[in-house]
Amino acid sequence: MSQTHQAAIQSVKGMPDILPAEAEFWELFEDTVRSWLKAYGYRPIRMPIVEPTPLFKRAIGEVTDIVEKEMYSFIDSLNGEPLTLRPEGTAGCVRAVIQHSLIAQQPQRLYYMGPMFRHERPQKGRYRQFHQVGVEALGCAGPDIDAEMILMGARLWADLGLEGIELQLNSLGQPDERARHRAELIAYFEAHAELLDEDGKRRLHTNPLRILDSKNPALQELCAAAPKLIDYLGEASLAHFEGVQRVLKDAGLPYTINPRLVRGLDYYNLTVFEWVTDRLGAQGTVCAGGRYDGLVGQLGGKPAPACGFAMGVERLIALIKDAGGEPAAPAPDVYLVHQGEAATRLAFRTAEGLRDQGIDVLLHCGGGSFKSQMKKADGSGAAFAVIIGDDEAATGEAQLKPLRDEGAGQRKLKVDDLAAAIVDQLIDANQADDEE
Ligand code: ATP
Ligand code: MG
Repeated sequence: MSQTHQAAIQSVKGMPDILPAEAEFWELFEDTVRSWLKAYGYRPIRMPIVEPTPLFKRAIGEVTDIVEKEMYSFIDSLNGEPLTLRPEGTAGCVRAVIQHSLIAQQPQRLYYMGPMFRHERPQKGRYRQFHQVGVEALGCAGPDIDAEMILMGARLWADLGLEGIELQLNSLGQPDERARHRAELIAYFEAHAELLDEDGKRRLHTNPLRILDSKNPALQELCAAAPKLIDYLGEASLAHFEGVQRVLKDAGLPYTINPRLVRGLDYYNLTVFEWVTDRLGAQGTVCAGGRYDGLVGQLGGKPAPACGFAMGVERLIALIKDAGGEPAAPAPDVYLVHQGEAATRLAFRTAEGLRDQGIDVLLHCGGGSFKSQMKKADGSGAAFAVIIGDDEAATGEAQLKPLRDEGAGQRKLKVDDLAAAIVDQLIDANQADDEE
């Protein structure tokens, strides 16, 4: 039979693999994130990655970057249903909460982590498959919950050992306030239409607020002098905004009010915030969120207030690495070396027995000489090699060889006594570490 050599298939552009050394880093990050969320009473929810396309059109808004040009949408070829790979998690989370009547009895504090999909131009910190941790509080009117969500962010940056992430804050008011501002804003930009770029002209009558969010340097001056939404807020909106700020001041958390912070999604009202760093180049926003009181009603639920935020995992991991955070690669406790048929059978029994006692074992697979297996044992970072050859197999014994403790010698033990000896020595080693 002849075999032709085929070209290897590559991953989709902008959708990188996360290889083991990197994925181990991610797992440590996720551990920190989970215990942080637990400390604030948040519970996990897992939504599907694919949702009906109309969900995103209705939740995010037709005239947003995401819905206009970033969604991976397709028609289910079996039943003709329009579907989309989720570009963010809030819409699906709110859909699930409505579908399962989760907030009928009491407010819900929920979180999720996972991949999101947006058809953007890939670059550092911007991918087509990327990951978010999303945190949502549904049924809470705030401003206490808004403020707590912001304090949460500050605590996570500390937990992750991150510095230099700054808080920007704004209030978008309520829809009627936004409508009055919008009319003034359109008039202002129309009067300066010759200065707008193509995106700006297109957005002028669809979503003029988004012009303020433009990254085009040529528009910065024009936007800086534009009518400010905050000047259109009524008493209740201002009181809410002040309520949030009071908690932040009490906690001694510094922030900047950024009148141009409008967020890319349509569903926000009142509080909006972003956590921004200058250490990642252009892609500096690591976390963004705010209040979205209209969304539950807009998606067909009984209207309920809500607030949430989402973090970009890739950007946070890049920051942790930039700060020199390098998690220790997890090594097994034992690397199990074996040769010969009887030895291999005993090795399997020994490995399972050790694991029963909570000891992590990497069982050598693929044969090879003792010498080459011992090389792998050294390279694995394991604390011990357990070695079983024909002699040991005949007597139900094994050699226990410490790999990291120079002074300790190799000794022969009954396999049933291995676990106790390993645990004793691991405890001794830990105590010695603590005394250093
Ligand atoms: P940007 O202005 O950078 O496009 P956005 O407003 O579209 O961000 P959100 O929808 O608020 O982003 O998503 C929350 C967070 O998710 C962002 O602050 C960012 O950290 C991360 N994020 C968004 N899009 C991407 C992407 N394509 N690749 C990597 N991370 C992303
Ligand atoms: Mg975007």
